[in-house]
Amino acid sequence: WNVSYYPVRSSSGTILGLGAVVSEVTEEYRAQAERDRLLREAQEAIRVRDDFLSIAAHELKTPLTPLKLHLQMLKGQADAGHAVAPRHVDKALAQLARLSVLVNDLLDTSRIQAGKLELTTEPLPLREFIREVLADFRGTNSLHSLRFEAPDEPLVIRGDRARLAQVLGNLVENAFKYSPTGGTVRVTARRMGTEACVSVKDEGIGIPKEEQAHLFERFFRARNAPISGFGGLGLGLYICRDIIERHGGRIWVESGVEQGSTFHFALPCL
Ligand code: ADP
Repeated sequence: WNVSYYPVRSSSGTILGLGAVVSEVTEEYRAQAERDRLLREAQEAIRVRDDFLSIAAHELKTPLTPLKLHLQMLKGQADAGHAVAPRHVDKALAQLARLSVLVNDLLDTSRIQAGKLELTTEPLPLREFIREVLADFRGTNSLHSLRFEAPDEPLVIRGDRARLAQVLGNLVENAFKYSPTGGTVRVTARRMGTEACVSVKDEGIGIPKEEQAHLFERFFRARNAPISGFGGLGLGLYICRDIIERHGGRIWVESGVEQGSTFHFALPCL
């Protein structure tokens, strides 16, 4: 039997008592409830897909306008027989880089969904590996300072060099993206029992506590993300989590609104 209660109110809205509906829960009733549940799930999945398509289209389109503009400027200069301004070349390349991150994130997401993201692992001395990855950032970002600290003891893990560089790169890019100009981003590596733990700490906008549990889900963006002024598809951390878990590791965050964020990942040491 299924019993549900409802308040009985007078015409002025005062509650006079409780009424009860008692119904027999039949097989047919259960089957109908299950069909309703599946229908609601399918409708929600369609809504998420439609939202995603419009966000993805918007994100992919955004770099195209400045890209076209800078290429037109370059063409104008070349047609007039002038030297082309390197500023336009750099700006066009930056927009192309942004497009290629978006396209690669979309491709990785569909690889993960199809179970086809594969790793090629090798022993990696973490300190040297992290130094190499961060060296690529030092030249490209002059708005934030980037520090790295690691103990002298050897810290070796087994991992896919390109995929782990992608994870670290993504965390550092997010730290820049969600921090005000002039902030410091600190990367550390240390041993934690049988694991090596890498942390990326920023002084940025932080993440509301109640949203932190969803950060590593596909398409998730925290409600304060737009403050950064940057768009995003909410795929980077989803891909990071998949890569780290495929290495037998874990990834998590410590943060508070306006208190900066620290992203950590831990991998088994060799
Ligand atoms: P994207 O940055 O493209 O939105 P991500 O998957 O990389 O996607 O990040 C998901 C969300 O997590 C972001 O939209 C943002 O709300 C939050 N986030 C990630 N890194 C940080 C950070 N360092 N500081 C504050 N918020 C962050």
